[in-house]
Amino acid sequence: MYKYDVNSEKADEFINHEEILASLEYGRKNKHNRELIKAAIEKAKEVKGLSHREAFLLLSSEEEDLNEEVYKLANDIKRKFYGNRIVLFAPLYLSNYCVNGCVYCPYHLKNKTIHRRKLTQEEIKNEVIALQDMGHKRLALETGEDPVNNPIEYILESIKTIYSVHHKAGDIRRVNVNIAATTIENYKKLKDVGIGTYILFQETYHRKNYEALHPTGPKHDYAYHTEAMDRAQLGGIDDVGCGVLFGLNNYEYDFVGLLMHAEHLEARFGVGPHTISVPRIRPADDIDPESFENGISDDIFKKIVACIRVSVPYTGMIISTRESVETRARIIDFGISQISGGSKTSVGGYAHEEEESSADTEQFFTSDQRTLDEVVSWLMDTNHIPSFCTACYRAGRTGDRFMSLVKAGQIGNICQPNALMTLKEYLIDYASPETRKKGEALIEREINNIGKEKVKEIVRDNLKKIENGERDFRL
Ligand code: SF4
Ligand code: SF4
Repeated sequence: MYKYDVNSEKADEFINHEEILASLEYGRKNKHNRELIKAAIEKAKEVKGLSHREAFLLLSSEEEDLNEEVYKLANDIKRKFYGNRIVLFAPLYLSNYCVNGCVYCPYHLKNKTIHRRKLTQEEIKNEVIALQDMGHKRLALETGEDPVNNPIEYILESIKTIYSVHHKAGDIRRVNVNIAATTIENYKKLKDVGIGTYILFQETYHRKNYEALHPTGPKHDYAYHTEAMDRAQLGGIDDVGCGVLFGLNNYEYDFVGLLMHAEHLEARFGVGPHTISVPRIRPADDIDPESFENGISDDIFKKIVACIRVSVPYTGMIISTRESVETRARIIDFGISQISGGSKTSVGGYAHEEEESSADTEQFFTSDQRTLDEVVSWLMDTNHIPSFCTACYRAGRTGDRFMSLVKAGQIGNICQPNALMTLKEYLIDYASPETRKKGEALIEREINNIGKEKVKEIVRDNLKKIENGERDFRL
């Protein structure tokens, strides 16, 4: 039996099975204990975060009026730290070759029906041009694990290619990377080539179930996978993105595991996860989500999002186009700070969306199929500022430097002006006439909400320059 130790380097000690079970028992036993639940809410209001046990107590609570307080607090916290901006990004799939056996993903090695494809550098350029033509500035790179077809050299070359493309007014300013767990040396190489966040989903923190869901391939090694974020930090990547795939395992177990992971990163490296993603399992070629018993309802999903928000108030939270328009609308105000828009989850899907060879390489079926312009327009209709900002990592605000600004409540003061300036670029370069009209009105309104006169002046000045053809202003 392993002992729980938040500072340990060992996966089984910082994500400790017995501690998770004890936390689950504590939360379930106290789901009607109003005094304890209220105390956790009061602590959450101090916006310094909650322990995994306190967080699970809130998730377990069956006191409806108190749950409503948590939803409200989640919204308040998101607005307090990040304002009403929502950052937009798109995934870019490079290759679906994979040597792993993940039973929930159509890219698994034994799937013989899926079309295998790996983009050449020329094809990557075309994908990037198509993404730039939509208006994207921030990408999340996705690829299967295959040391022969997708070695680290291929990933590094691809990132350089992406940054090198400048089509019309377009450029990709931040590439986040979601690739398999790797060595410290490879993380250093990714850092050197200028990635933003390194993202790796844990899928599930339950070791036994993890091993069953990943029966073959290098990903079968639970400890190597779970300790990947530590190696990324040791390799110099101080912005890491965590997440579980809800639906694979008991959601309560994974909720606690996820928060323990965040606590561990904070304890060991002084900085918790930069982002937390909350994907739910989706249908795909060869995959039927109904065959997984742990699916979660929209209500539980909303509660998970809100409880994560109040428990790790400084962390960005992401939902993808896996979720339907309705679900995204329902949960966006409970703590989400980033969403994907206009996404294609196939290899080569942006430049050749009609071609069958792209469509049948999909990792999962997207639910929200709106164009980026429609998503931008919808965000504005729902009182959010769509943002294409990539300022922080380009200004060296990463890791604990970034987190100390968030903790001091200062990042929102930077997010909002940056959101307005990047939105202005989008409106001029890519938006439909209706979206542009709506956006110009929003910018005029929102500029008045900038607290400092000096900043207001700078933003007004930069907006004029953007109208005159200059680009890429940031605070
Ligand atoms: Fe490969 Fe990732 Fe799919 Fe697993 S989840 S089969 S590692 S692409
Ligand atoms: Fe993100 Fe920093 Fe831009 Fe805010 S200012 S949207 S935290 S990159």
